Amino acid sequence: MVNDYYEILGVSRQASQEEIKKAYRKLARKLHPDVAGPDAEDRFKDVTRAYEVLSNPEKRQMYDLGGEQAFSGAGGAGAGFGFQDIFETFFGAAAGAPRGPVPRGRRGQDALVRLDIDLSEAVFGATRELQVDTAVICPTCNGTCCRPGTHPQTCEVCHGRGSVQRVTRSFLGQVMSTTACSACQGHGTIIPEPCQDCAGEGRVRTRRTVRVEVPAGVDSGTRIRMSGQGEVGPGGGPAGDLYVEIRERPHPVFVRRGDDLHCTMAIPMTAAALGTVLPLDTLDGAREVDVEPGTQPEQVITLRDLGVGHLNRAGRGDLHVHLDVQVPTRLDDRQRELLAELAALRGEEQPEPRLAATGSGVFSKLRDKLAGR
Ligand SMILES: [Zn+2]
Ligand SMILES: [Zn+2]
Repeated sequence: MVNDYYEILGVSRQASQEEIKKAYRKLARKLHPDVAGPDAEDRFKDVTRAYEVLSNPEKRQMYDLGGEQAFSGAGGAGAGFGFQDIFETFFGAAAGAPRGPVPRGRRGQDALVRLDIDLSEAVFGATRELQVDTAVICPTCNGTCCRPGTHPQTCEVCHGRGSVQRVTRSFLGQVMSTTACSACQGHGTIIPEPCQDCAGEGRVRTRRTVRVEVPAGVDSGTRIRMSGQGEVGPGGGPAGDLYVEIRERPHPVFVRRGDDLHCTMAIPMTAAALGTVLPLDTLDGAREVDVEPGTQPEQVITLRDLGVGHLNRAGRGDLHVHLDVQVPTRLDDRQRELLAELAALRGEEQPEPRLAATGSGVFSKLRDKLAGR
């Protein structure tokens, strides 16, 4: 890419203002997007930026002293005289002007609604009905925007083309530019009698019921896209999409981490030592938790496939039961006697301290697991 403004315009550093103007005029004619197509647009912008600087004696002097760094960000807000200004000065607001009539119907916007679900709905999936407020096609005019019995008429100003051509005289010579017809806003037609029920919008707002299939595995923040269920566009244009954003209510017992569920179950010290079977109400109904003899505090018992169904694939997460082994705090005389006897039998009246570095052991492993989801 050529960065030197003189080189871009193909003039010498001693070129007069008249020569610079002449060089720009020649290049602008050749590269103008209406003539050379969009491919030449970048070059056209470079040429225009170079001209913008070199045609201004003060800017040119600064450029000669400091090169392009003097204009870093040229064309940006600091440059004062932007590309668009110079473009419009020469060619009118022709850049990107529409070539044909613009259809009246435009695509509507997407809509977003929130849906609160229970954990069990996330686990198994659900069908829910939802009230949504969106624009729908006007039933009176069926989206045509015209009062029933009337029809759009061809615009008399642009004769249905949607655009008008203007000839501007500038030092580049005569320049033909195309602008959107202001009489019909570029549509090429006008509506003589707008529909009264939608004020000629072709759509009205209404509240309706939408059935949402909530798949298993959705989580808070998941968005379900419902194609074509959003806002109908102006002029009866096609509807945008409806996004249903899921919010999962917290469950009193089970905590979700990814597709796994976790709960905490308190058991007495004696049950942990002797082993037992405990009932647990899972989301799938009653299950049994098998506590092995010698179960340790903070131990986790995993019940396979009782977690949340995976989103868009087969299988489910697991249910992890975290045991909270409770040591009795108040003992009567008989209980203390029995425990002391047990301690004596096990040679534990005076236990040896066994120290370990923090960060090892069951508790921190569990903590890491939960943090990593
Ligand atoms: Zn209507
Ligand atoms: Zn018109």
